[in-house]
Amino acid sequence: MRRQQRLELVFTEFLPDKLTDGKLYISMQYATASHKCCCGCGYDVVTPISPKDWQLTFDGRSISLKPSIGNWSYPCRSHYWIQQNRVVWCDPVDQADRSVTRYRGRWSRLKGWLASWR
Ligand SMILES: [Zn+2]
Repeated sequence: MRRQQRLELVFTEFLPDKLTDGKLYISMQYATASHKCCCGCGYDVVTPISPKDWQLTFDGRSISLKPSIGNWSYPCRSHYWIQQNRVVWCDPVDQADRSVTRYRGRWSRLKGWLASWR
């Protein structure tokens, strides 16, 4: 598996059934963008464009999407931004690890506190 660093724009009316790695498909007619997960895992990522979902910026040459793409529900759990066709990678695993550690710390303090009342 190879992480994408750049996406190629494909403007289309209908999104194809089979997406190609490294391409960002944009359907203005249906206000939807779609691409294969940039980590190379093969999952399709569909991003509806609306004020409530993703906002798409087209500067005449390249596309940016807001907010970031967080594939929490996919096994890869990849997290990245698409900025001017570039894929800007974030590190979700690291963040998750830290919050688990913090949670464990709090839990062991709570257990100690409970034990002191026994
Ligand atoms: Zn992935």
